[in-house]
Amino acid sequence: MVECQIAARGIHDPRVLAAMLEIPRHLFIPPPYDHAAYDDNPLPIGSGQTISQPYIVALMTELLHPKVTDNMLEIGAGSGYQAAVLSRLIRRLTTIERITTVVNLARTNLKSIGIDNVIVIEGDGSLGYPGNAPYDGIIITAATPDVPQPLIEQLADGGILVAPVGGRDIQDLITFHKKGGSIIRGSHGGVRFVPLIGQHGWENKNS
Ligand code: SAM
Repeated sequence: MVECQIAARGIHDPRVLAAMLEIPRHLFIPPPYDHAAYDDNPLPIGSGQTISQPYIVALMTELLHPKVTDNMLEIGAGSGYQAAVLSRLIRRLTTIERITTVVNLARTNLKSIGIDNVIVIEGDGSLGYPGNAPYDGIIITAATPDVPQPLIEQLADGGILVAPVGGRDIQDLITFHKKGGSIIRGSHGGVRFVPLIGQHGWENKNS
């Protein structure tokens, strides 16, 4: 998976490649889809949610330029896989998930491989988590119409935010680099994520 789908497609950061090699993706996918864990696809994890495609996990991780001293925030814990990859590269990650069953899945998965520098919080991640801010990096792993203002405020000066921004069905992967009060925006291609449901995201169609 790492050689053919990730390194071959242009992910070069050796720390990111090592973390992707180290984390067993099959342990983050409940049956019956776990057999397809090393295909380059998003897969269902229950509750209508998905684990992201491995290449996109690697790309978003690389775009964050993770450093061992970093304190980061993830919105959308899902299976906990992205969090597990980041846990190998930074000091501390706070990850937020809105669905209770999925919160429990992420906690169980992370515990099963002994990860102890990730805190899984239940709640609306579009509000961020001011208690552990400022963040050197923020990753939103659900589609957002725009970058939520609370997250921009919780990003440290010099910090990077990566997110799928756009429509409910298709988005552009963007980076926001906060520098001296201004924001430098980058664009990294089209992606498809499940929607960010919350105060600064999309309305829940099921409620
Ligand atoms: N990062 C995940 C992984 O490694 O498996 C994949 C995330 S999945 C594509 C998107 C997740 O975002 C879903 O689990 C969904 O419930 C969650 N989500 C959507 N809106 C949210 C919100 N406002 N706050 C927190 N989590 C949210």
